[in-house]
Amino acid sequence: MRICTTRKELNDALAELEGTRGLVMTMGALHDGHLSLVRAASEASDHVVASIYVNPLQFGPGEDFDSYPRDLERDCELLEAAGVAVVYAPSDDQMYPRTPLVRIDPGPMAVVYEGKTRPTHFAGVLQVVHKVFNLMRPDFAFFGQKDAQQLALIKTMVADLDMPVEIRAVPIAREESGIAMSSRNLYLSGAERDYALGLSRALRAGAEAARAGETAVVVRETARESLAGAPGVRMDYLDLVDPETFVPLDDDATGPALLVTAAWVGTTRLIDNLEVTVG
Ligand code: AMP
Repeated sequence: MRICTTRKELNDALAELEGTRGLVMTMGALHDGHLSLVRAASEASDHVVASIYVNPLQFGPGEDFDSYPRDLERDCELLEAAGVAVVYAPSDDQMYPRTPLVRIDPGPMAVVYEGKTRPTHFAGVLQVVHKVFNLMRPDFAFFGQKDAQQLALIKTMVADLDMPVEIRAVPIAREESGIAMSSRNLYLSGAERDYALGLSRALRAGAEAARAGETAVVVRETARESLAGAPGVRMDYLDLVDPETFVPLDDDATGPALLVTAAWVGTTRLIDNLEVTVG
């Protein structure tokens, strides 16, 4: 596996790869969720290329950019064992030789839900995703359903800008307890890990209501009540949305939908979501 920290090294390494490339972008602190993306990428493409970069542009003031877990050596061992051919792990100076003047405007989907709490987040995400697509020129790029709003925005960007890459979604990898795997789970204490179960439990309560044939409003309220009653959890939002646009479902709407939530457990902000079919 080639580990590249400069554009020159990256270009040299990519020049040696023949065939299709599947890209997995990460911020490191890898877990099985990331590795499920690598597995999907290696099934679909001749070579898997990965990036490890904690992108300052997608963190707001007071967020965890400085304390975000970083362990490049361990991450590279995991990626190599998973069969990745090339890793790009640039410094901030390599990624952003200057503060970018041209910025991507992610549009209305970036100011709701995650974007309401983190107003500059998605502009920062799309900036780095667009750059890494240009630098690594993948045929396919794999993103986790865990970050469903990010996935919907990346698909929208690729469609609206005719970017020559195919976006593939990978289901959420969960621990046995049901908690969605996340690098930020490393922040949780023992008791907080139990509290964190409140998120997936609330989503499952909503999904259960959907399976029982309840209306959209009942599905949403069932999940909300479950989360509101969960110990040690402070709800940021919980809603039932259109998976492609993140527009909230009308109370009597039917069809495929996504229950999305974010909540604080102690000082850690966690997100989760679950696909449901209403009606
Ligand atoms: P991150 O390192 O958190 O930026 O995540 C990198 C990629 O891994 C993103 O596409 C995430 O959606 C994906 N990812 C993170 N956690 C999970 C998970 N539990 N299941 C599936 N994909 C995940």
